[in-house]
Amino acid sequence: MGFEDKIRRVVPYVPGEQPKADNIVKLNTNENPYPPSPSVRETLKRFDADSLRLYPDPAASVLVHAIAEYYGLRDEEVFVGVGSDDVLAMCMMTFFNSEMPVLFPDITYSFYDVWAELFRIPYEQIPLDDAFHIVPGDYLKPNGGIIFPNPNAPTGSLLPLDTVRSIAAGSPDSVVIVDEAYVDFGGESALPLIREFPNVVVVQTFSKSRSAAGLRIGYAMADASLIRYLNDVKYSFNSYTMNRLTIEAGAACIRDEAYFRSCCEKIMATRERTTAALRDMGFRVEDSAANFVFASHPGVMGRYIFEYLKTRNIYVRWWDKPRISSYLRITIGTDRQMDILLDALRDYLGAVPS
Ligand SMILES: *Cc1c(COP(=O)(O)O)cnc(C)c1O
Repeated sequence: MGFEDKIRRVVPYVPGEQPKADNIVKLNTNENPYPPSPSVRETLKRFDADSLRLYPDPAASVLVHAIAEYYGLRDEEVFVGVGSDDVLAMCMMTFFNSEMPVLFPDITYSFYDVWAELFRIPYEQIPLDDAFHIVPGDYLKPNGGIIFPNPNAPTGSLLPLDTVRSIAAGSPDSVVIVDEAYVDFGGESALPLIREFPNVVVVQTFSKSRSAAGLRIGYAMADASLIRYLNDVKYSFNSYTMNRLTIEAGAACIRDEAYFRSCCEKIMATRERTTAALRDMGFRVEDSAANFVFASHPGVMGRYIFEYLKTRNIYVRWWDKPRISSYLRITIGTDRQMDILLDALRDYLGAVPS
């Protein structure tokens, strides 16, 4: 046996492109088109660079406390990590440790199966129905855990809180993780469920609704005993995940609720306008509760539109995957960015022979 046979080999997650050019309309990774709260800039200006000599607080207490305060939780009920990708990976490593398969949708965030493979967690992908909705009854089977985004990605479709509650109630013997990366764009958070169910974990991020993808902050909220298990695993892996700058800037960021709300309102308004315009052009657009829309056109293949838009310096996301290859996932940018996109689509559809 050669050394190659002893290596852990995995097929990595492929994030959306981060093109270097600056004249690009970037609608491919669900970033917020608006800058983070001005308080983040102020905090960075005031930051004492000399303090970087010292390790950061391993518990990131200032940030944990700011998040707990915002949601009316105790600090013991909050765990922070380097983006929710870090938090979700820690959650899967900590909570999904049985022989039984973990359940998640077939069309969903494409990191879940990558982590399951990495950590060798058995899993089963539960098909969405033909309208791309989660069928809650399909999760009522013995399992090693459940994870799903709400709203789901890349479809944008939202489960009402009662449906999330029914999924949690159906699996009292395993941990249920609700990935709420997009919940601030019109969804209802499952956070109240952590009081009803000691096995529910709600994960959120600063990357989308709080305009801070570059800071890398995600967090989990759950019963204190689950948070303790998460911290035990984290401290067995890397104690100092959150750097000093991020801890301070993140705390300032979450304290500015008014600014955050106004950005979310703008994005939701732009999303509704964009959805209507795309439907006028003949696109099929799923109802979205996120900062993106999922759209297909009956007359043209998704790949062609995706490639055409690139020639116009407009980046959206397209996957060559079963069931969704005719769809584009389009991040909601500013009104101006969406107008550029809509004009390009009108040009393209006008030129396609029907
Ligand atoms: C964007 C996203 C995340 C991760 O975002 P971070 O930048 O790592 O916080 C997690 N889950 C879903 C469904 C996402 O779309």
